[in-house]
Amino acid sequence: MPILNRAAELQGEVAEWRRHLHTRPELLFAVENTAAFVEMKLREFGIDEIVTGLGRTGVVGLIRGNLGEGRTIGLRADMDALPMTETSGVPWASTTSGKMHACGHDGHTAMLLGAAKYLSETRNFRGAVAVIFQPAEEGGGGGNEMVKDGMMERFAIEEVYGMHNMPGMPVGEFGTRVGAIMASTDEFTITLQGRGGHAAQPHKTIDPIVIGAQIVGALQTIPSRTADPLASVVVSVTKFNAGFAHNVIPEQAVLAGTVRTLRPDVRDMAELRIREISQNIAAAFGATAQVRYGRNYPVTVNHPAETAHAIDAASIIAGEAKVTADIEPMMGGEDFSYMLLSRPGAFIFLGNGETAGLHNPNYDFNDEAIPHGISYWVKLAETRLAA
Ligand SMILES: [Zn+2]
Ligand SMILES: [Zn+2]
Repeated sequence: MPILNRAAELQGEVAEWRRHLHTRPELLFAVENTAAFVEMKLREFGIDEIVTGLGRTGVVGLIRGNLGEGRTIGLRADMDALPMTETSGVPWASTTSGKMHACGHDGHTAMLLGAAKYLSETRNFRGAVAVIFQPAEEGGGGGNEMVKDGMMERFAIEEVYGMHNMPGMPVGEFGTRVGAIMASTDEFTITLQGRGGHAAQPHKTIDPIVIGAQIVGALQTIPSRTADPLASVVVSVTKFNAGFAHNVIPEQAVLAGTVRTLRPDVRDMAELRIREISQNIAAAFGATAQVRYGRNYPVTVNHPAETAHAIDAASIIAGEAKVTADIEPMMGGEDFSYMLLSRPGAFIFLGNGETAGLHNPNYDFNDEAIPHGISYWVKLAETRLAA
């Protein structure tokens, strides 16, 4: 079966919503206008219950089926944009310099609204569908905040599903996998305290730049020498700040970066090794290293049964040949990971075609993907909540 006819009919209207949101990107938890737009649409659809302000600015709508009482499943979209300036040149480009929907969350929100409209018209299921619109996916953990606010209990959500667009994957295709599909994303900062002085008298100083350079190199032995070669781990030093003059050896150097893994034990190992390497190399040269290691999003782990349901729904819509059931995991992070720690569920990728990559200033969500995304949500709800 191809995409649903009604979903195809909805494409123009949903694309308009998507472009409206694209023009007006908002960051992190400050998605008030986006949340208000979502709430307005859900009210127009006449759904059964709308709760705002969950996880500060999240919105949940509940749609009850016509086929009797039953379980509730959650479908989740994210609403926030990124702190970057758009260069796509499209007519609906961001009107705010320094804010941009570069991850397609405008498309995710619009597609889930489209699915809510469809499901509120047809209600061809038993139980209820909770449509979840979360803030602060791009840092801030808005999904985690909604879970902590008791969202799952309040709506008696038993399963939860997420979707993200994927540039480079053809429109109309889907991809997912059982187990780890997105990485944990941690951040570290290493502050090296040396002793400053005249650049012509290095013997009277403890040079934090030379020490820092050795630490940068040594940290690369975490993936290459400490981790199991079959385990995925990325350690990237992305900042190295030190010094202010050609002839002065500074007192301090500050290194910072990110660690991504697909396994909790590898994550623990990386944190331990960053501390050991930094502190011991610093000590070897008479300096000190203060390491701050912050744990952000956990690994996004798909549950086996729910992943099978997601694959079934996608296969009904796209045909089995267009659904990759064992896609390679991505080393990016996902706030949806917290929802999957709270309830069983699955995260799936939706083809965005040959567009610029995620977080690229030329990126734009592909409106051609809209009927595929809506059809997936609808089919997933109707199959999981079949009478
Ligand atoms: Zn993103
Ligand atoms: Zn994203």
